Amino acid sequence: MDNCIFCKIVAKQIPATVLYEDDELMAFNDINPVAPVHFLIIPKKHIASLSHVAAEDAMLLGKMMGLAPKLAEQAGCGLTEDADGSRHGGYKTQINTGPAGGQIVYHLHAHVIGGKK
Ligand code: AMP
Ligand code: ZN
Repeated sequence: MDNCIFCKIVAKQIPATVLYEDDELMAFNDINPVAPVHFLIIPKKHIASLSHVAAEDAMLLGKMMGLAPKLAEQAGCGLTEDADGSRHGGYKTQINTGPAGGQIVYHLHAHVIGGKK
């Protein structure tokens, strides 16, 4: 998609700190992090927002969500559970949609935010 900043990152036309990449997905650090860990998971395919997701994209969305805990763990903010059942760590996974949802970049992306004490 012309003039889409995230499509340009996918095409390597603009730089990003890439944490993960496969045929369908990419994850890179947010340029303006709001926490020690803040990265974005995007489909390589241009989908403007969550409201533009089609039935055929269900698998892709599942893969995006499945990647979040793996990369959060690599970034040191995974959810851990002690033998006594107490939980530690964790992260927020957020998809902003539309003007009222605070979406600025119209290429679907899930924020993964963590590392706050
Ligand atoms: P939003 O559309 O509000 O969910 O958020 C868009 C996010 O993209 C913001 O957190 C920006 O800091 C981030 N962002 C914008 N441009 C870039 C870029 N070139 N590389 C990495 N992150 C970016
Ligand atoms: Zn795009």
